[in-house]
Amino acid sequence: IVRLDGVPMTQDSSHRGMLFLLQEVTEIRRLEKMRSEFVANVSHELKTPVAAVKGFAETLLGGGVNDEKTARSFLQIIYDENERLNRLIGDILELSKIESKRVQLDCSPVYLSEFFDSVLETLSKVAEKKKISLNAVVPDELFMEGDEDKLRQIFMNLLSNAINYTHDGGNVKITVANGHKPDGTETVIFTVSDTGMGIPRKDLPRIFERFYRVDKARSRSSGGTGLGLSIVKHLVELHRGTITVESDLGIGSSFILELPLLQEHDK
Ligand code: ADP
Repeated sequence: IVRLDGVPMTQDSSHRGMLFLLQEVTEIRRLEKMRSEFVANVSHELKTPVAAVKGFAETLLGGGVNDEKTARSFLQIIYDENERLNRLIGDILELSKIESKRVQLDCSPVYLSEFFDSVLETLSKVAEKKKISLNAVVPDELFMEGDEDKLRQIFMNLLSNAINYTHDGGNVKITVANGHKPDGTETVIFTVSDTGMGIPRKDLPRIFERFYRVDKARSRSSGGTGLGLSIVKHLVELHRGTITVESDLGIGSSFILELPLLQEHDK
């Protein structure tokens, strides 16, 4: 056996080379499998609303609906399915931009108390509709360095999920506190907790995967795309942070995020 540069290989190094090659091939196969699963999922997810829009529009066009109330309810379905399609396309594009590393952070100081006032304000109507109490506990004057739009996307996703998967009359809360890592790096710890339906233990490791849902019907009926948490995880990692989840079935869930107080260039 001769190496490409002409130097003879020992038995041992050739075995190591083979092992390395096998590992590479396995990794390429794994990525290829993930890619084709993703394409299959995307097509399935897109086809469902397209088929619904087509079916209901055909019925209306065919003149098969005489009373106005039924016609309106069909139009509402067409409108809602179209909205879902829009969200789905937006999330798919966002995810592919992040995954191909075409997204960069545009960081500035974010004052967290004002930031959460505005996030909660945006969600107040949805929470009120379900009579859910929505609160934030944020130390005054605390700020962190981050990309405000992306932080907004993270917390809008987590808080909307918390509202969505909590029964009427429940509580959703975000608490913010200072923290540090073992190496002394200063961090901010965010906990988004709810008194909702919770997540079964066996599903916990998978909920950040693309299109993974504990209850497909519930996610669909509430307009979910199944991509929110995987976008959140990527955006947290772009900020060099971590996200974990704890949940008790029927009692509630908490998503815990730890983000550095300052981004690298300022340290
Ligand atoms: P979806 O659009 O379906 O909400 P996500 O990626 O945001 O997709 O979440 C994935 C799944 O994780 C959801 O379908 C739901 O089953 C579960 N999940 C997320 N957040 C919560 C929560 N706060 N309480 C209970 N289940 C949750």
